[in-house]
Amino acid sequence: MPLGLYVHIPFCSAICNYCNFNRGLFDGDLKNQYVAALLKEIRGKADGGDADTIFFGGGTPSLLEPGEVRAIIDGCRDAFAVPADAEVTLEANPETVTRERLEGFRAAGVNRLSFGVQSFRDEELQRLSRLHSAARAREAFAMAREAGFDNVSLDLMMWLPQQSVADWLSSVEGLIELGPEHASLYLLEIYPNAPLRDTMARGQWSVAADEDAAEMYLQGMATLDAAGYEQYEISNVARPGRESRHNMKYWSDEEWHGFGCGAHSTRKGVREKNVASTSEYISLVASGGRLEVESRSLSDQTRLEEALFMGLRLVKGADLALIESRYKIDVWQMYGDELKPFMDLGLLIYDDAHLRLTRPGMLLANEVMAVFINSPVR
Ligand code: SF4
Repeated sequence: MPLGLYVHIPFCSAICNYCNFNRGLFDGDLKNQYVAALLKEIRGKADGGDADTIFFGGGTPSLLEPGEVRAIIDGCRDAFAVPADAEVTLEANPETVTRERLEGFRAAGVNRLSFGVQSFRDEELQRLSRLHSAARAREAFAMAREAGFDNVSLDLMMWLPQQSVADWLSSVEGLIELGPEHASLYLLEIYPNAPLRDTMARGQWSVAADEDAAEMYLQGMATLDAAGYEQYEISNVARPGRESRHNMKYWSDEEWHGFGCGAHSTRKGVREKNVASTSEYISLVASGGRLEVESRSLSDQTRLEEALFMGLRLVKGADLALIESRYKIDVWQMYGDELKPFMDLGLLIYDDAHLRLTRPGMLLANEVMAVFINSPVR
């Protein structure tokens, strides 16, 4: 299977109060050194293998100049066999783009944009300390269309402070009005030390009850179904044929190379993770030091478990024929006793060819997936 190539861009204009990603504040000099280091890392890992997706994630990749994006895409094309129709995605924040910059990204070879919109309600965006407004998000989307992008994804987040089910659904409607090809819907997770926790305490803000969070998910998905989107993964919907080809690799037991600080790779059965710090990454690349802080061969048992629980994220489910022939096991014989209670509750369907969660089952996905992680056969 062709690889996916992931390129991490760890710079943001400001740090959002809930963010737990590997990122830091934008600094022009650091960014220049980082791009040079990325190009060197990509060159150093060249093996001519096939790769059919490139994904710029972050951080805020749209803070790069179009010329830098072009250099990185060209670097990937020199190092790997990347077909002309490869999917090339750039994550973008609405406040960072102009029509001219978007045209530049497109000319550089980007053919898919993923905008971090998060909400179409200004008060929610302000509570999350985002730099854009709902109007700016709409404007950015319109500029993307004018620049020729016909494959655009928008991210929204639910279960935000002070958000009601109706508020959430109004953002979903806002997304549908724009008509992107793809959408990702995430539940806001507020990690223990997030500055948002203090802000919430000061403002006496709260999040909706768990039952409402479940309603947000179910009603949001039903609204998107009615608008002609197809859910294909727990958090993702798309127009037919517009699923994220890159992200499908993570869910389908395929392999990828990650470049940049904190990026991880799974290649030839080996999982590796680069050093997380941007400055350490730059110095290690410069000195020719070892970038990987973790490297482990995945056992067949680990790969099997990952194939099963990642496959369960997909609406079509884990492909049992493929998994059983790849790992030489009978999934039902191995896990059937533990899976059966979830089937009895209508959360899971086993049809011999696939094992898949129903939509209510997706709300309890972690419990079902735990069967593969905590199994006694491990
Ligand atoms: S823009 Fe995204 S990556 Fe950057 S701080 Fe905000 S949430 Fe984190």
